[in-house]
Amino acid sequence: MFCKRILFLRCLSFFFDNNYQKFTQRLEMQTNIKPIQMVDLQGQYAQIKTEVLRGIEEVIESAAFIQGKAVKDFSQELAQYTGAKFVIPCANGTDALQIALMALNLQPDDEIILPAFTYIATVEVAALLKLKMVLVEVDENTFNIDPEALKKAITPKTKVIIPVHLYGQCANMEAIMEIAQANQLYVIEDTAQAIGSVYTFKNNIKKQAGTMGTIGTTSFFPSKNLGCYGDGGAIFTDDEHLAKKMQMIANHGQEKKYYHDIIGINSRLDTLQAAILRAKLPHLDTYSQKRQDVADYYDAQLASIDALDIPSRNAQSTHVFHQYTLKINDGRRDALKKFLEDAGIPTMIYYPLPIHFQKAFHFLGYQKGAFPLSESLCEKVISLPIHTEMETSQMEYIVEKVISFFQK
Ligand SMILES: *Cc1c(COP(=O)(O)O)cnc(C)c1O
Repeated sequence: MFCKRILFLRCLSFFFDNNYQKFTQRLEMQTNIKPIQMVDLQGQYAQIKTEVLRGIEEVIESAAFIQGKAVKDFSQELAQYTGAKFVIPCANGTDALQIALMALNLQPDDEIILPAFTYIATVEVAALLKLKMVLVEVDENTFNIDPEALKKAITPKTKVIIPVHLYGQCANMEAIMEIAQANQLYVIEDTAQAIGSVYTFKNNIKKQAGTMGTIGTTSFFPSKNLGCYGDGGAIFTDDEHLAKKMQMIANHGQEKKYYHDIIGINSRLDTLQAAILRAKLPHLDTYSQKRQDVADYYDAQLASIDALDIPSRNAQSTHVFHQYTLKINDGRRDALKKFLEDAGIPTMIYYPLPIHFQKAFHFLGYQKGAFPLSESLCEKVISLPIHTEMETSQMEYIVEKVISFFQK
């Protein structure tokens, strides 16, 4: 009895020693606001629970776990949503990029142009396929690949450009497609962060992210704007031949079971994940709107702070705000991060290093100073919490804390 009580007290003290617990309790006491997270997948699930569970149950009852009906249904629904002629579902966004590159008949040493400031997946697959990676600088304001730098990097060996629509806003596709056409290059759009974003060309034609280049790729990683409950990805194209080939590559290079015409990989979208995505896709526009509303609020409240830049918006592209990323120009980014953390506000640095500073990519041979804008962005950027379940009280609290930091 006595022993048990001691154990109980021990557990209790452990509980209270845990800083985070202590902290969120304090936060709730002081402010009466719900603890803040970068994304709130539990809150989002609560809103769509019935649809999600119904979809999951159907899959389990059918026992068609691999290439089940939901996979096909989802790819058709996503094709309809994006306007892509063909959608090839696959296991994750990194595989989507790899499959896209595998389909293009590239030879070792063919050159592929990528932004120096991006998530690692984009360059990783190019390295795995032994392609020659040529990094280029990004635009300081939109964080996306700079078309002028891109132009200068083209050589007779260049075959592919991979623009990444970073944080939820399309790269300058007007210029990129012009350059690609003039030089006969393939364009693979990495749309992992920008699904649903719409780009308007000068001739007023509107296209969704991922449907402008030769191929588009996306990710359904849980925290992405259209996230499943595990890993998932998809590839978009209007080219029937490429679509067929990529479909085969994603499934061991076979069209007919056990007849392998090309070398492929095992990268299928799980049927359970497809069912979850089918439940979430009808909400994607509402989710994007919710993120834009949060961004508008942050913009309005933070724009007047001299030491920072709010995200710049490109007139050609809508912004679906996968991330709301500020640039802190007074050198106090890390101090701000710590200050917000102490106030119970999580933030993230996407990304702390440009690609050429990553150990795994030292072999590319780029020196410090090769991409000064990308390098300085890594020291300036900070992403604030933004998601579909944010409450006004949370947004107000975050803004109040950011403002108070810069008044110090
Ligand atoms: C998330 C992400 C990927 C990779 O997606 P996974 O599904 O995690 O493999 C690729 N590119 C970018 C820009 C991403 O943000």
